[in-house]
Amino acid sequence: MPPATPPIALTIAGSDSGGGAGIQADLKTFHAREVHGLSVIAAITSQNTRGVTAVHTVPLKHIRSQIDAVFDDFPIGAVKTGMLGSASVTRLVAKEMSTRQPAWLVVDPVMISTSGARLLDEDAVEAMVEELIPLADILTPNLPEAEALLGRKLRSPKDYDKAGELLLELGATAVLLKGGHASEREVVDRYYDAKGTMELRHPRLAIEGHGTGCTLASAIAAELARGHAPRSAVRRAVGYVHRALARSYRPGGGPVHVLGH
Ligand code: PLP
Repeated sequence: MPPATPPIALTIAGSDSGGGAGIQADLKTFHAREVHGLSVIAAITSQNTRGVTAVHTVPLKHIRSQIDAVFDDFPIGAVKTGMLGSASVTRLVAKEMSTRQPAWLVVDPVMISTSGARLLDEDAVEAMVEELIPLADILTPNLPEAEALLGRKLRSPKDYDKAGELLLELGATAVLLKGGHASEREVVDRYYDAKGTMELRHPRLAIEGHGTGCTLASAIAAELARGHAPRSAVRRAVGYVHRALARSYRPGGGPVHVLGH
């Protein structure tokens, strides 16, 4: 008997030449979660463990043709978006997702790398808020991204709950507000949907893992493609990232750890 075809998930994101984040992290995650991974490359970063030295956004017609190629051929179970780079790419991806209506859409609103490089133009935040976020089944901002999307500072768990409410009002069906940047002793990720709040707590590891956000969003997409409901997909994905972070290593000369998938 030929092997069964695994579920299929798609990442629309940026390439990290250092292999730690972006498309490369997404495909490693899909493979580890036993999902066939497809990729639409929206941007190319020149990057290593010391930082990002250049960013190039792929011309719109080549992003569109990659989207056509994958949707014309594969039964796509879930889509994840990551680094989109510019307002015009964000608008194109939103238009394509609104026409093609994948079963699940996870939006990771990637803006600035841990090393400080801008991965989304400032004028693209509006396109993200107006066009892409309303289509998201799950939106996965970290705290600085939530602050940029809402235009307000978030200082305490009370602020975080308010932010969850306001992000749902932007039109996402669920929001996973990641607590990695908070000053809380444990890492607390907070999930909000119409049914209420779920908190996911785990010990804070003394590692700043590169590509953690990419890996989490793609693990959620993988679990959705495998048939798990959103809350269960998020719980499983958070567990996966925590295990991958505990196995992280330093592949280059810089301080950056990449996850052990
Ligand atoms: N490079 C690319 C292409 C990314 O998509 C991302 C994050 O989403 C990063 C770099 C930044 O990763 P980190 O902030 O985890 O270092």
